[in-house]
Amino acid sequence: CFNRPIASNPGAHIDVVERCSYDQQKSMKVLGSLDNLDNDAQRQEYRQGEYFVESENGSAVRRCVNLGSYNYLGFADDWQVSCAKEVKASLDDLAVSTSSCRNEYGTSSIHRQVEKTVARFLGKEDALVLNMGFNTNATTIPALVGRGDLIISDELNHTSIVNGARASGAAIRIFRHNDTSNLEVILRDAIIKGRPRTRRPWNKILVVVEGIYSMEGEYCDLRNVVRVCKKYGAYVYLDEAHSIGAMGPTGRGCAEYTGVDTADIDIMMGTFTKSFGGMGGYIAASKETIAFLRQRCAGSVYHNSLSPVVCQQVLTSFKVIMGEDGTTIGKQKLQALRDNSNYCRMRLQEMGLQVLGHYDSPIMPVMLYNPCKISAFSRECLKRGVAVVVVGFPAVPILMSRARFCISAGHTREDLDRALKEIDEIADICNLRYARSMFG
Ligand code: PMP
Repeated sequence: CFNRPIASNPGAHIDVVERCSYDQQKSMKVLGSLDNLDNDAQRQEYRQGEYFVESENGSAVRRCVNLGSYNYLGFADDWQVSCAKEVKASLDDLAVSTSSCRNEYGTSSIHRQVEKTVARFLGKEDALVLNMGFNTNATTIPALVGRGDLIISDELNHTSIVNGARASGAAIRIFRHNDTSNLEVILRDAIIKGRPRTRRPWNKILVVVEGIYSMEGEYCDLRNVVRVCKKYGAYVYLDEAHSIGAMGPTGRGCAEYTGVDTADIDIMMGTFTKSFGGMGGYIAASKETIAFLRQRCAGSVYHNSLSPVVCQQVLTSFKVIMGEDGTTIGKQKLQALRDNSNYCRMRLQEMGLQVLGHYDSPIMPVMLYNPCKISAFSRECLKRGVAVVVVGFPAVPILMSRARFCISAGHTREDLDRALKEIDEIADICNLRYARSMFG
């Protein structure tokens, strides 16, 4: 019941396919499709999850408020702004696939445009664009470090970082989540003791953190990470998958939000799958580092390059965020994301739920603790037209099961209020209002 197939573009609303019995289907109002609805009132009702439509294989499709996708600025389904128009128009000129990797025939001028835009946006010398965020971590880290090097990684870093770190052949130490005193202890120890057996100094030490941690909704204590790394001469690698375009007054991510100069972050990684409504990932760094990665990073050398049409989506999203489209839409979206996130977090806390993370973060995990509550919570949400992601073992410790809400600028206040009303009722059904304990 955790991952149901979806029948439409995930945006502020999403159609979720219900696997239901024939008898259940008979009792449903079958309306054909949204286009067949007679009037706005019916459409509104449908939008609000009251109605089902029949899908091809006879199962029912329910429209839900989407609190499960990382569509932070709403670009993934925003057909109003210039974004969509430019992307549609680009289909006349640009190929969907380059069918080649970057170092062969897969680099077009639009790839360079995206790279220059990323570098300019972040105040770095240059950037490299890859076709997947996951691959960006998984193939850049092994290009940057190897045997004789040390990676010090936050314990809650994403799997793509873990994969990259393991594949690199570098030694790996883990520090307690977002705990920079523990990071300092490990760094100092690594420098005093050096490499095992030989006790020679480490060639390089790379500290890897994320801007916002996706299972916790917390942002990184970046100021202290940078301070400690400077003190011991370690390199900083920051994964901004969830923070780029979602944090900071102008969407420039965790560095902007925490007041850290991007010159102090050696490697800035991010993805286009979330705030930009596209695909792919980037590394922004010094000219020399990027030139080196262009030759050494397997994700760039051996993988098909990013789709040119997706490059257009990314470029246009950047243009809107930076206000270079001549409108204030980007500014409004950033403000809406922050307002929606803080409103939701406040309301969930007022309900007496255990909400993890920080204000201003669009990710809001609500603790279920007991793993038996996972499927009940998910089922009740879907039944009431609210699509959420529930998280259990092994993604989180077994007694730290949770439901995770992802907020978007595309949500209206009515969407959020409707979802919150349902969650309030489900909190009683699943007995979620209790003081911090394992089995409320
Ligand atoms: N880094 C982090 C922190 C992530 O959460 C994710 C995926 N959610 C990725 C990298 C991989 O990015 P993508 O889904 O764009 O491949």
